[in-house]
Amino acid sequence: MVNSSEKIQTCTRCILTSQVPNIKFDSNGVCNFCHEYDEEKKYLDRDYQALEKKMISTLKVGSKHPYDCMVLYSGGKDSTYMLYKLANHYKLRVLAFTFDNHFIPPETYANIDRVLKKINVDHIVYKPSWNLNKTIFNASFQNSGIHKRSKELAFMIGHACWPCFTQIALHSFKLASEKNIPNVVVGTTPGQLRQKKYDLKSKFNGLVDVDKHMIAPMINLLKTLGKKDAINALDISLWKKLKIARMNLVPFFEYNKYNEHEVYETIERELDWRRTKSTDSCSTNCQLNSLGIAIHQKKYNLHPYIIPLARDVREGFMTREEALKAVSGKVNEKLVDHIAESFDLDLGRL
Ligand SMILES: [Zn+2]
Repeated sequence: MVNSSEKIQTCTRCILTSQVPNIKFDSNGVCNFCHEYDEEKKYLDRDYQALEKKMISTLKVGSKHPYDCMVLYSGGKDSTYMLYKLANHYKLRVLAFTFDNHFIPPETYANIDRVLKKINVDHIVYKPSWNLNKTIFNASFQNSGIHKRSKELAFMIGHACWPCFTQIALHSFKLASEKNIPNVVVGTTPGQLRQKKYDLKSKFNGLVDVDKHMIAPMINLLKTLGKKDAINALDISLWKKLKIARMNLVPFFEYNKYNEHEVYETIERELDWRRTKSTDSCSTNCQLNSLGIAIHQKKYNLHPYIIPLARDVREGFMTREEALKAVSGKVNEKLVDHIAESFDLDLGRL
């Protein structure tokens, strides 16, 4: 933890700060992660036309399956845009899947209703029991520090986002497997895909990745905490694991260049999607995100979104100023206190 009175340095090119582990700055104030990114280069030279073709040929599976793909649809801006492109533009047979973590506000459901009047797809909402949900989120909020790996994941992905992504992954893959849907498409941004380790060098490796960086460490943490009921509710049999292992996890924005302006412009124009007022500046669908940000700021004096957004700045998907503005937004403290209370979480004791 960094003492808040220490001077915080921010990279002059991306938005990472001196609070991030293993960061160093050169004489121009540019961080080592920016220099490492320049060495990688490969994402700067992507042939998106070829990638788009490759994605469609992977996703079009024919009539032996009931759908071409399941789309993880949160109701937020990025997944709304992705759903629109896959169903309306590429004409794929899509099943939309929404995970409700109990903190999806009415505004988001209003957006989902308007959007699905214009996109003709089947839609399933999955909302786990409050007890299961509470146990998994609390493991991250209150106990992620007890294992080296869960501490790293809660720091890198976020205290609310890591347990949420874990649940989304488990429930969606299980459902896709049961329904014989061979592809699951996810709208994580390139920055979000690479924030699994302190060194920020993770490459995307499909379902194996999700198991290694999300599911297995969560199960491990729940085991240590003795949460047998939650493990039974979450864990999947070997048979299902094998079946799921043959499925494809397709990250949409690795095949289609991410452009936040185009995302907003398209969904507002075509789908009557509206910006949410009851969520913080880094979420367009979920209120629990605000608690995740508050926990991070309390524990580390750091906004969790600087990590994924720094990558998006380097890739040119958003400007440094836009990213700085997003992470300087304040969370609604009353809302945060109210949500923390529902988890019996005392923010003052973290
Ligand atoms: Zn940098």
